[in-house]
Amino acid sequence: MTFKSLIQSNIFPIPVGSYYNLQPNALYLVYSPLAHVMLIATPDSVRDLESAISEPEKAIPQIKEAIEQLINHVPINKKIRKIRGTDDLQKMSILPNHICNLSCTYCYSSQGRTNMVLNKTKLKTALEYFINPARLENRFLSISFIGGGEPLLSWDIVKYGIEYAAELATKGGFTLGMTLITNGTIMNEEILSVLKKYNVLPDISFDILNEFQEKERGQYEKVCNTLDMLAANNLKPSVNATITPSNVCFQEHMLQEIISRFNFVDNMIFEPVVDAKLFQTVESFKKFYNDYRVYFTKVRKLGEKYGKKIESRLSRNLNDIIDRGCPSKFTVTPQGDLTICYCSSSPKETHYERRVFGKIKNDLSISLNQKKFLSIHNENVYSFSKCSDCFAKWHCGGGCMCPNDTYSSAYLDVICDFTRDYVKQALLERMDAEGIMSDFLQKLN
Ligand code: SF4
Ligand code: SF4
Ligand code: SF4
Repeated sequence: MTFKSLIQSNIFPIPVGSYYNLQPNALYLVYSPLAHVMLIATPDSVRDLESAISEPEKAIPQIKEAIEQLINHVPINKKIRKIRGTDDLQKMSILPNHICNLSCTYCYSSQGRTNMVLNKTKLKTALEYFINPARLENRFLSISFIGGGEPLLSWDIVKYGIEYAAELATKGGFTLGMTLITNGTIMNEEILSVLKKYNVLPDISFDILNEFQEKERGQYEKVCNTLDMLAANNLKPSVNATITPSNVCFQEHMLQEIISRFNFVDNMIFEPVVDAKLFQTVESFKKFYNDYRVYFTKVRKLGEKYGKKIESRLSRNLNDIIDRGCPSKFTVTPQGDLTICYCSSSPKETHYERRVFGKIKNDLSISLNQKKFLSIHNENVYSFSKCSDCFAKWHCGGGCMCPNDTYSSAYLDVICDFTRDYVKQALLERMDAEGIMSDFLQKLN
């Protein structure tokens, strides 16, 4: 059965019979993400909805009422703020260097290592462009200091960036959120006091369990020490763990370790690794993503019990409507180039040239190629033909550029299946929680 008219109206009939031990197409979840409405329907009711979309006057009152609910939303082009060029960007990433004191097995930036460190005056120029009240009307901005390398190996640059950004934000009347993403091996009193003074959120990349941290990243004790120092200074760190084939089934253990050893951590991100060399076959990739979905769902539920939030890019986006995998960023690389995402930071990387849209020149002028920026920004849910009828499209946005650039289409299909399975499962759980499903099944019996 195809439901062209419903799908064109952003109403997606999703077969869910197998979740209730029925034939897959025996039951549908009819989902309207833009209206935040979902209902459960038999195949006959879905057919009635499909006809009612084009001829509502012929529909029976119940179907007419359902259609009205499902289409009652603000149009997508009004729901999502349009980005017309770099002047509309509200998120900045700053990569102070390409140097790192770790060599994590799955490092996304290992190809790009150089001794390059961001020049302070180039950073000044970039901040003055970004935090400029004449550039955009919106007064909310965010900045992440991130790698590329380990930002705290260039502390003087990070410190300068934090202080100058805060000064410009105050002058320009901006609310500015700042985050420092670090591998957690470097911390001292001076860093703590600056983070505290400027309310910078420390986000520690840490695989939590000693065994996996040592296997994939190293320096377990140092990172524990950093977390303890942050807590002792009332700085609440978040933890960013990379989920690999080794630790994918240990996500609940990771949470338990947080509760018993680092209970001051309330927010975690458990994101699947992006590394083509880890997966020799599509089958092994499929297994990994399936395990990730199962154990990630479990750990999120366990986290809720203990007041801990465990998120991923996808779980976050489920509460949002997006047309792009993530917001485009004004990313300053150590050489002073401007790219759309921190994953592209060094000319030594394969896809770098495709992701650069500008440059802070040696004379400190900024050159911005708006046409190129827009062509990269517009790699989104509208540009991938596979996304047009996908029910997960407004929570996925066509996916993250990093796996999109890393994997072949057979592997990306696995990520798409995972995305749809995750979204479907989350929607069904919401329906169960609201009791809609049990009421419906009782009526059906
Ligand atoms: S800490 Fe980050 S930048 Fe350094 S090797 Fe590990 S993943 Fe790469
Ligand atoms: S799951 Fe795949 S097909 Fe669906 S929106 Fe995301 S990238 Fe597109
Ligand atoms: S494209 Fe992917 S890796 Fe880059 S910032 Fe967005 S979510 Fe992160």
